[in-house]
Amino acid sequence: MLKIGILLGDDIGLEVVPEAVKVMKAAAGKVGLEVDWRPLPIGRKAHETHGHTLPPGTVEALQKVDGWLQGPIGHTAYPRNDPTWVNPQLRREFDLYASIKPVKSYPNVKSVHKDVDIVFLREVTEGMQSNTVVAAGTGEFRPNDEISIGMRVITRRGANRVARAAFEIARTRSRRKVTAVHKEPVYRLCCGMFAEECRKVAAEFPDVRLEEVLVDTFSMKLVMNPQQYDVVVTTNQFGDILTDEGAGVVGGLGLAPGLCAGDHHAMAQATHGSAPDIAGKNIANPYALIMSGKMLFEWTGRKRNEPKAIEAAKRIDAAMDKVIAEAKYLTADLGGKASTTQMGDAVAAAI
Ligand code: NAD
Repeated sequence: MLKIGILLGDDIGLEVVPEAVKVMKAAAGKVGLEVDWRPLPIGRKAHETHGHTLPPGTVEALQKVDGWLQGPIGHTAYPRNDPTWVNPQLRREFDLYASIKPVKSYPNVKSVHKDVDIVFLREVTEGMQSNTVVAAGTGEFRPNDEISIGMRVITRRGANRVARAAFEIARTRSRRKVTAVHKEPVYRLCCGMFAEECRKVAAEFPDVRLEEVLVDTFSMKLVMNPQQYDVVVTTNQFGDILTDEGAGVVGGLGLAPGLCAGDHHAMAQATHGSAPDIAGKNIANPYALIMSGKMLFEWTGRKRNEPKAIEAAKRIDAAMDKVIAEAKYLTADLGGKASTTQMGDAVAAAI
């Protein structure tokens, strides 16, 4: 039996996470996969009830599950210096180093480009993220009111393991190409180390081609000709920006799922934030959270040797393809008129 945590998060998280759970339950039921679902408090509600956006009890409970689904956290709803930011803390606590973000276009969904099928891997435990790179305090400081200083950390281990994860994914795909995105000529030591580790890993995967593209050039090419990319691996801050750009190329944030994975734990989490502008209206697109849940099934299926979870993931994929192709129950961002709940119901019914 798989144990999966359910963390709603804030704003539209309260609407899209239940749709993902609904679809995952339908798929699990169809293939006879037993799942012990464990709801756990985080975010603003946890702040109100437990005095903390990430209560210690939640972290302990997450140690005992196979993976979890997590809604977005509405950071701007919290005090500026709230020390209880959820995502960096969870990534560090569970060593979730690779944020895996597929970007895929659909023929009948309005998008800047068609025939796009990219998997981004963004390193998320080091880099420029100020509260991730130090054990205490933050990696940013202001010695006087005229100067602010930030820190970037790249380690051989961090670069090597995310590059390895990228090559392993590329090996399962037909084009077998990894694009490493950096800016080595300028950031010679930090981007240089990242590039060196990508090349080292590439030598162990002779069946996968490595190309290297500078981040500014890449961001232009991604807009003009995204079809040329297969698997893309990059450092934390570049990846933060490029994965949103990738989502924009295929139709927007509603279509951008993700899985934050380490060697032992995984968290299904969409690229989008808590979208306070549309929260509470039942109009958010549940696609990204549903497909993040699908990725969690795939990951747990592989890691825990549970073929039924992999089968359940395939059912979700097929059902989503059907719902999108039929275009009867799509949310407004995809050009439809359906509510969040109606789209979730349609995917569950298609399973
Ligand atoms: P956002 O991603 O929440 O929203 C950007 C735009 O995309 C908005 O117009 C929103 O309505 C739209 N959008 C996002 N998700 C959508 C969906 N599923 N369906 C339809 N439209 C969708 O970004 P933001 O407004 O910059 O940030 C809002 C809050 O989310 C902030 O507090 C930010 O810190 C937080 N945030 C959290 C995470 C996370 O926890 N993973 C990630 C990014 C931002």
